[in-house]
Amino acid sequence: MERTRIAIIGAGFSGLGMAVRLRQEGITDFVVLERADDIGGTWRDNSYPGCAVDVQSHLYSLSFAPNPDWSAVYAPQGELWAYLRRLVDEHGLRENLRLGHEVLSGDWDDATQRWRLRTSGGDVEAQVLLSGMGPLSNPIPPQIPGLDTFAGTVFHSARWNHDHDLTGRRVAAIGTGSSAAQFVPGIQPHVAHLSLFQRTPGWVIPRMNRPLTRLERALFRRFPALQRLVRRRQFVYRELLGVLLRSPRWSFGVEALAKAHLRRQVKDPVLRDKLTPRFRAGCKRMIVADDYYPAVAQPNVELVTSAVAEVVPEGIRTADGRLHEVDTLILGTGFEILPVADPLRGRDGVTLAELWRERRAAYLGTAVSGFPNYFMLAGPHSATGHTSALLYAEAQMEYALKAIRHLERTGVGSIDVRPEAQQRFVSHVNERLGSTVWIVGGCRSWYLDADGGSSVLWPGTTWEFQRLLSRFDPADYETASSATRREVAAA
Ligand code: NAP
Repeated sequence: MERTRIAIIGAGFSGLGMAVRLRQEGITDFVVLERADDIGGTWRDNSYPGCAVDVQSHLYSLSFAPNPDWSAVYAPQGELWAYLRRLVDEHGLRENLRLGHEVLSGDWDDATQRWRLRTSGGDVEAQVLLSGMGPLSNPIPPQIPGLDTFAGTVFHSARWNHDHDLTGRRVAAIGTGSSAAQFVPGIQPHVAHLSLFQRTPGWVIPRMNRPLTRLERALFRRFPALQRLVRRRQFVYRELLGVLLRSPRWSFGVEALAKAHLRRQVKDPVLRDKLTPRFRAGCKRMIVADDYYPAVAQPNVELVTSAVAEVVPEGIRTADGRLHEVDTLILGTGFEILPVADPLRGRDGVTLAELWRERRAAYLGTAVSGFPNYFMLAGPHSATGHTSALLYAEAQMEYALKAIRHLERTGVGSIDVRPEAQQRFVSHVNERLGSTVWIVGGCRSWYLDADGGSSVLWPGTTWEFQRLLSRFDPADYETASSATRREVAAA
C-alpha cells in the first residue's frame, strides 16, 4: 500500500496540469495514477490521420506552462502529446507518475479520513483525490445490429489501427462529428472509395489554420507578454463566439458564416443540401474545418444519408435496402460522457455512478456532496464546447489548490460540500440552461442527458466560471467533525 497526501487520477492535460501546479506550489507528496503505460490522455489515444486541436493552441495549452514553439495556430496531435511529455520532464513529474495503475475502486474511509484506492498496479491511500479523467476518454461502439459479424477490419477513431494500411481500400466511416471531420480529409486521398455515413449534418465554420513563422515563435520566446496577449485575444474571440452561439436568438450570425463556407466549398447543390444542418448552430459542438467539405466533395467519396440498418460480413446495409460493400469500417461515433463515476464510493457507501443515475451533479462542477476531499477537474457543468476546455480545468485546479491549502491550514481531516450548497448551484445552472441553444436548438447531442436536460454544460461565460471558482468558501463545506455530529444527530 502506497500512502500519499494527494492522488490524481489520469495523466492527460488536466491531471498533469494539476501535478505541475502542485509542484509549483511546493507540494511534492502526490501521485498521478494513469491506467495506460504512457502519459497523454486524449492526445495519446487519438492519433487518427489529421488529428489536431480545433481551438487555437496558444489558448488550448496551460497558462502556467506556455509554449512559444507551436508550429501552427492549431497544432497537430503529435505536438500536443510532446508538450505534455515536456511538462513531465521540465517539472520533474516522473517520480510522481504511476503508469499502469488503473483505478479499479476508490472508497472513502471515514475512520481514517482517507481515500483507499485499489488499482491494477497496487493499492494507494490518499487524503485528497483529484480526478483528471477526461470527459471523453472511453470510445463507445454504436449499437448497430451485426457489427460483430463484419468480415473486414473495424476500429474506432480514438483507437486508430495504424497497422492497417488504407491505401486502395474500400472504407466505410460512420459518424460526421469533429473527429470524422478531421480524419476524412486525412484518409480520402489514399483510399479507393469512402462511404461516409451521416446521420446528422453538423455546422462547419472555417478554421483558417496557418503555420506560425520562425519570427513569430522567436518573438513569443523573447517576449512572453506578447504570447499572453495573443492568448487573450483568442480568449475574447472564443467568448464572443460563445455569446453568439449560446442563445438561439443570436446564432444566425454564425449560421450565415457557416452557410457561406459551405457554398464556397461545395458546388454541387444536391450534396450541399445533404450537408446543410436542420438545427440551430451551436446546438451540437461546432465543427471547425477547412478541408472537410472539399474532401467530401471528391469523386471517391459518397455521402450516405440513408440510415445504417445493419452491418453484414461484406459491409453495411442501409435502410433503403442498399448494400455498401467495404473492407474497412471506421467508427467515428463518439464517446461515453464523463466516465468518472463507476469506481468511486463515497461516505454512504454509494458509488458516484449510482448517485448520478438520474442526473450528474456537482458543486461548481468540482465537488460532490458525500465524497469528501474529492475534486474533479472536468466535472458536470464545466464544459461549453466553444472554447478551450483547459480554461475550465485550470479554474478547477486553482479551486482544488485552495481546498488543499484550507485542509492544511485548519488541520481538519476532510471537507465535504454541503448538500444545500450543491443543490443551490445545480438549480441555478439548470434554470439558466433551459433557454440555451443546447436545450432548445432542435438537436440531440452528447451534451444532453436522456431526459433532454444537460449535466455537462456550463450556461454562462468562461469569465463567470473563473470568477466563481476563484474563491474557496469554507462555509460551503462541512468538516469531518461537523459531518460526524450531523450523523449522530440523525441517528
Ligand atoms: P461525436 O461528436 O459524438 O460524433 C459522433 C458521430 O457519430 C455523430 O455524427 C453521430 O451522429 C454519429 N453516430 C453515432 N452513433 C451512430 C449510429 N449508430 N449510426 C450513425 N451515426 C452514428 O464524436 P466525435 O466526432 O468523436 O467528437 C466528440 C467530441 O470530441 C467533440 O464534440 C469534441 O468535443 C471532441 N473533439 C475535439 C477535437 C479537437 O480538435 N479539439 C477533435 C475531435 C473531437 P448524430 O450527430 O446523429 O448523433
